[in-house]
Amino acid sequence: MTPKIARYLSEIQPAAPCLVVDVDRVEENYRALRAALPLARIYYAVKANPARPILERLARLESAFDAASFEEVAACLAAGAAPEAISFGNTIKKASAIAAAHQAGVSLYAFDSAEELEKIARCAPGSRVYCRILVANDGADWPLSRKFGTSVAQARRLMLRAADLGLDPYGLSFHVGSQQKHGAAYEAAIGQVAMLFTDLTERGVDLRMLNLGGGFPIPYREAVPGIDHFARAIMRALTRHFGNALPDIVIEPGRFVVGDAGAVRSEVVLVSRRDPESPLRWVYLDVGRFGGFAEAEGEAIRYAIVTPHDGGATGPVAIAGPTCDGADILYEKADYRLPLALASGDAVTLLATGAYVSTYASQGFNGFAPLAEHYI
Ligand SMILES: *Cc1c(COP(=O)(O)O)cnc(C)c1O
Repeated sequence: MTPKIARYLSEIQPAAPCLVVDVDRVEENYRALRAALPLARIYYAVKANPARPILERLARLESAFDAASFEEVAACLAAGAAPEAISFGNTIKKASAIAAAHQAGVSLYAFDSAEELEKIARCAPGSRVYCRILVANDGADWPLSRKFGTSVAQARRLMLRAADLGLDPYGLSFHVGSQQKHGAAYEAAIGQVAMLFTDLTERGVDLRMLNLGGGFPIPYREAVPGIDHFARAIMRALTRHFGNALPDIVIEPGRFVVGDAGAVRSEVVLVSRRDPESPLRWVYLDVGRFGGFAEAEGEAIRYAIVTPHDGGATGPVAIAGPTCDGADILYEKADYRLPLALASGDAVTLLATGAYVSTYASQGFNGFAPLAEHYI
């Protein structure tokens, strides 16, 4: 938690549940990434947190943006981004959304299938396109490889076809999976796409851009390698495979930019021993899966939790949300322990919740309002 958030929580005492985001920390993270990888152009992945104050701050820093829907494109434009600084990076787009983005001046589009490529040719003629390649997502806590990406062989065919359709075959992309903890994943992926780069160049298709996606991890309950580890791995692989004929390098960080800039303040609703014989207590918070914690699915992302009794004796807990849905459980298997003194009414704080929380909150399931948000 940043000192500014700690001060805000203690002085203002905003009603729980709420997300508090320190926008200065967003800027620090953006600058740290730019310093670690000065060669790369940063396209902030808007889906991680599309709040206006974040987009405005990043636009002022001349960040570019990776948008997944026309609504996100519009949010970037409204926050001051130029259309040339926006990539429509979702490989699954409605025709009407592509046409609206084209109309707004966006000229960069992702695809990973022939059908989507044809749609882009129809709705945004002449645009720059890049093909997303499927790479291994091993080492990522939140993999993306089941849903997106195509093979190198198919990407080769599609990039040749792009030129035939009157599009500008601009580059290639991949995503090594979110909360990726191994620099080696980037090295392997760069090696995989580099061969296609050379191959297509020999066929007269002069690719100019390589998009390394996002994935850079942040510490939750466990430490992760710092950004320099990933920057070194990426630069090593780029040098090995491209020498000094480097294409334009793009990265699309989401979690790394906003994750540790946010904290959720929550109130303990109930602490119960459902089995009096067992040491396990159930801790029910006023936020859960439907309050924004969708990434607790499969207990994949494990948030650190601060309580007013830290330092005292602890015992094992399961942690759940307040709704009447049996799926509204955050952690049962992840070995959480919380203080024995924890009681209903206590205020707790879930750390590093700036990314992939606020927009996942439901509209009002069981009558609970969507997570309140404060940008400071
Ligand atoms: C979600 C997403 C990102 C951001 O990933 P992080 O792991 O949050 O950095 C980047 N690019 C694309 C295409 C995405 O879908």
